[in-house]
Amino acid sequence: MPSQEVLNWLRTRFFPHIWCPGCGHGIIMHALLRALVDLGKKKEETVIASGIGCSSRMPGYIDACTLHTTHGRSLAFATGVKLANPELTVIDVMGDGDCTAIGGNHFIHACRRNIDITAIVMNNNIYGMTGGQASPTTPAGAYATTAPYGVLDVPFDICKLAAGAGASYVARATVAHPLLIEKYVKNAVSKKGFAVVEVVTHCHTQFGRKNKRPRPIDNINFFKDNSVMNNKASNMTPEELQGKIVIGEFVNIELPEYIEQYMNLIEKVGGNRG
Ligand code: SF4
Ligand code: MG
Repeated sequence: MPSQEVLNWLRTRFFPHIWCPGCGHGIIMHALLRALVDLGKKKEETVIASGIGCSSRMPGYIDACTLHTTHGRSLAFATGVKLANPELTVIDVMGDGDCTAIGGNHFIHACRRNIDITAIVMNNNIYGMTGGQASPTTPAGAYATTAPYGVLDVPFDICKLAAGAGASYVARATVAHPLLIEKYVKNAVSKKGFAVVEVVTHCHTQFGRKNKRPRPIDNINFFKDNSVMNNKASNMTPEELQGKIVIGEFVNIELPEYIEQYMNLIEKVGGNRG
């Protein structure tokens, strides 16, 4: 049973929502809310932005300052919000297609800019809402509406992409590890800089049914059985890592933060920081 504080962040206790029963997105939303409650965040100082997709419906269910924007562009909106009011805690929730296809450019440039925003990427390896088309994270060989013989393309590794593009915090968990999600989201929100938490989740209706994991529990068990912590993974061979989901914190470093630099520049040229 969620705590009263977590329930307070939900728009109503028994709200109607569009997620299929058993969808992984609810696990992620609950972990996010626990993290925000634990960090003592206030609703009126917390902004949750999203683009389009099943995962992007999340802000509609949360009682904070929320922003449901266009497909792939939520990081551009979130950047504007943060620049306009740097005191706000800004969190962007995205799906894998939203983040790495339509919004791919926004994502890599937010990473290199290192603006103080937390991106939570819900990676279910498919476009769930629009009918199960392959996304840039659909594993090679997996089936999708647009790949009835299996996907040929090599998928993106979201964490490697974020690390390579310059994010100051990068971590991955799965929905089989709700406490890890909560811990990484807390670390990400506390980080001064661009922080990415990838959460591997399931779309049992669109991806699962085509790939022999039709029930939520099939997916949770799959994630549990195939996840390996990064410290253990570093001692494994590429063959042993085949098909494994490496979880853990990959990047946690201090880098110059964009807004701080921007404000310093304004001051330097004689402007008003306020
Ligand atoms: Fe979740 Fe997939 Fe249903 Fe969307 S279509 S709510 S991602 S299970
Ligand atoms: Mg998706």
